[in-house]
Amino acid sequence: MSNTITESHQTLNFINGEFVSSQHDWLEVISPLDGSQISKVGLSGYSDLDAAVQAAMKAYPNWSGKTLKDRVQVLYKYRELLVKYMDELTELCHRENGKTWSESRAEVEKSIELTEFACSMPQIISNEVQEVSRGVEVRIDRKPLGVVASIAPFNFPNMVPHWTIPNAIALGNCMILKPSELVPMSSTRIAEMLKEAGLPDGVFNIVNGGKETVEAICDHPDIKAVSFVGSTKVAKLVYQRSTANLKRCVALGGAKNHLIVLPGAHEEMTASNVIASMSGCAGQRCMAAAVMVGVDRIEHIIDRMVIEAKKIVPGDNLGSVISLQAKERIEKYINDAEAAGAKVLVDGRNAVVAGKEGGFYVGPTIIDHVTPEMAIAKEEVFGPVIAIIRAKDLNEAIQIENASGYGNAAAVFTQSGGAAREIMERASAGMIGVNIGVPVPREPFPFGGWNDSKFGVCDITGKSSIEFWTQNKKTSVKWNAEAKTNWMS
Ligand code: NAD
Repeated sequence: MSNTITESHQTLNFINGEFVSSQHDWLEVISPLDGSQISKVGLSGYSDLDAAVQAAMKAYPNWSGKTLKDRVQVLYKYRELLVKYMDELTELCHRENGKTWSESRAEVEKSIELTEFACSMPQIISNEVQEVSRGVEVRIDRKPLGVVASIAPFNFPNMVPHWTIPNAIALGNCMILKPSELVPMSSTRIAEMLKEAGLPDGVFNIVNGGKETVEAICDHPDIKAVSFVGSTKVAKLVYQRSTANLKRCVALGGAKNHLIVLPGAHEEMTASNVIASMSGCAGQRCMAAAVMVGVDRIEHIIDRMVIEAKKIVPGDNLGSVISLQAKERIEKYINDAEAAGAKVLVDGRNAVVAGKEGGFYVGPTIIDHVTPEMAIAKEEVFGPVIAIIRAKDLNEAIQIENASGYGNAAAVFTQSGGAAREIMERASAGMIGVNIGVPVPREPFPFGGWNDSKFGVCDITGKSSIEFWTQNKKTSVKWNAEAKTNWMS
């Protein structure tokens, strides 16, 4: 299977170790860098999904029957392939998603770290055993669930699939991946590399598509668990539908991350970090800064942010947003905020990149004097835009953060330990940063938000994912010849 990116390129399903065509419609895959068609992807229905589930069920007894140490040998080889093909994977991610080359490279590097965590599982999982009464032991073994599914969004075509694939298969499950239909090509390379690394056919499968495919996953009786990453609207649907069908589900949703900036914050570090957080990956990160709550007098920091933002140039050190609809949505939020009285300090509207006029670009945008009831303060914009809300003190700033329905990340910029501690304690978010604008917990710590940013019990990565992808088997064993019985017998 070649990955030459051309208009005639087709992105196929991957079932039982083979690339196969889905049986339904096709969708054009557009590079947001310049608006050109780079592939087309099949949209799958229930029968396509069922073929993948049958392949996974066939592969499951052999794969789950191996030891954890044997299973991760494939992932050691796979990790080497991620390194070997780094440039090609980076280019693919850049072309299909539109983020910059260096952001794409960082994404692949993170995929390596995620794979390394899965490789470490034999070192971190040792089952519990205890003598609960003389000569009687109880032990717990972690067992895989069976066939599981992972549904991914467009914003990290390489990394988000690695949040789930290495851990789920290392733990003995067989997986169906449903990539975003907007960026399905990186997943094709993941399938090819897993096969090259020696993963048995059927352990990992890809079924491409959109809403219909996701609904089929939620409904299929032989899929035991579903992980989802995407918008809150769809996360709720997937969580409700898959749990109504008695599946285990963790569904990560959207975000509206608040960064609280206090007057004593380090000026240069705060300005560069806030701007990097809001503009990295063109603001299309679930960890991106969306609202900056400025406490008291922070004019000097805002002035510095304006200088930093003006160094960011679309098509150079700022990638595209995913589609024309996304560009129009983001610009409408800016228009509406301005019409409602907010002040646009740096304006990224109508950005055009010379030579890439067909691409979808929004420049970095800073909007000051936003008020909490404006749409731009409440809703997920998902673009390189930061809305500044003013607060009189730390307490009011925390109340503004707490009022958000989301709860992925929150951060504080301050040199005061007491203020930092207050935010760590009172912010209503799953991931907190102190002088860090993108507080992603690196492996082995788990990733996951609160409130409308996540539905379900476990986090999606790190040690928490081990709980999600396994079930405990509790075994009681009697090693003595005691004949007398009691209430425990
Ligand atoms: P999306 O919700 O539109 O799509 C996600 C997945 O759901 C895709 O695979 C898509 O095919 C499928 N889908 C879309 N509409 C559907 C429907 N009506 N029914 C069933 N399935 C449907 O999300 P997106 O636009 O691809 O990604 C951006 C969103 O993802 C943002 O909201 C972002 O915050 C969120 N996100 C969250 C995290 C997190 O960790 N919380 C991480 C990355 C992205």
